[in-house]
Amino acid sequence: MRAFDATTHYFNRAADLIDLSDNMRRLLLTPNREVQVQVAIKRDNGELTTYLGYRVQHDNARGPMKGGLRYHPQVDIDEVRSLAALMTWKTAVMNLPYGGAKGGVAVDPRQLSANELELVTRRFVDAIHDLVGPDVDIPAPDMGTNAIVMAWFANQYSKYHGFSPAVVTGKPVELHGLPGREEATGRGVGVFAYKLVGRLGRKPADTRVAIQGFGNVGSHAAKFLHEADFRLVAISDLSGAYYRPEGLDVPAMLHYALGNKGSLEGYCGAEKVAAEKLLELDVELLIPAALGGVITAANAPRVKAPLIIEGANGPIDSDADELLETRGTIILPDILANAGGVTASYFEWVQNRQHYSWGINRVRQELDHLLSEAFEKVWEVKQERKVSLRTAAYILGISRVGRATVLGGIA
Ligand code: NAD
Repeated sequence: MRAFDATTHYFNRAADLIDLSDNMRRLLLTPNREVQVQVAIKRDNGELTTYLGYRVQHDNARGPMKGGLRYHPQVDIDEVRSLAALMTWKTAVMNLPYGGAKGGVAVDPRQLSANELELVTRRFVDAIHDLVGPDVDIPAPDMGTNAIVMAWFANQYSKYHGFSPAVVTGKPVELHGLPGREEATGRGVGVFAYKLVGRLGRKPADTRVAIQGFGNVGSHAAKFLHEADFRLVAISDLSGAYYRPEGLDVPAMLHYALGNKGSLEGYCGAEKVAAEKLLELDVELLIPAALGGVITAANAPRVKAPLIIEGANGPIDSDADELLETRGTIILPDILANAGGVTASYFEWVQNRQHYSWGINRVRQELDHLLSEAFEKVWEVKQERKVSLRTAAYILGISRVGRATVLGGIA
């Protein structure tokens, strides 16, 4: 199933339950604007290379559109379109005053020098600067991009439009960025885990956890969960899975990865098992926080965890989702589970616009507050409608966007 089809599948399932008219469905599923642009640079060796860049602006009924900028060789319009729609529902579930967008350049950033990467970013901004802006569309880092790329983006944009730090979020803290933005998605996953086990009458100390991925999301989630007394028994990254049934030494793993270019390769404090086995371990909580599409109809029957929190975007495909749901697995969906990042981005944007900055404690406090509110609201819809958390989150998101569309008026 193509990425856009999966998002549309979840959309339609929720839309059926709220009797959304065909005309409104068509409107909400049709992106406002899709652009493909040429990104041509001269590489360090003098060679001319041309890449394709994309920006999809899905919906702006609730406010300026918000979504990441991805640099990856497999970026294409279908993937960007799907992720843009996902952002519309995610910002609506979180009740942020935003719509959804996404962008990308089909380039492998690992093959480029820093100078070439900067050129790609500046040429991309040259091509789309008229289409984005603090009140229009606000990009942020995503796969293959980071705070430095955002700094280049803001700098190039300001050459056309003057001082505008709020045109992107996820900037370096020293350049109008937000302390706490980097940890926010992983922290959010941790906050949700805490709320979810509380709801189910389970204690963190009796909850064994496996996390796939030890990058930005996975490592910060691991840190939060360890501090909240959960029992982390398995963590994996590209180098393999590390398993210790009595509980992993999370601070030691964080420290090890920090001194090893972010990788757990060579870590000896746990048994090493095949990376894909992590998904099938006997644990109470599984957190896929690496890539999309890792749980499919093929391996879902072997997934034992009764609780899954989707740290990554789309880690469970729609066939597997159905299979797990029938079995009673409780899944906290990506559009809620990893929304900590966009929520912190919202705080960064608010502060940039006010020229005022908060400290880390206030950021964490406000983040935990908004995440808790969204969780409670989705849980309420789930109870009321007797649906899964994924369908409840989609119902909430679609209803909010639909309502804003109607209130704004379509003349
Ligand atoms: P990252 O690049 O920082 O980390 C990815 C991690 O996954 C690395 O530890 C890598 O080694 C590991 N990994 C890759 N392939 C693996 C495999 N086959 N098995 C096990 N581990 C593997 O990425 P990230 O920022 O942590 O993002 C992870 C996911 O979360 C992505 O799907 C991303 O779209 C989503 N997400 C991220 C954010 C954010 O703020 N960073 C926000 C929302 C959603």
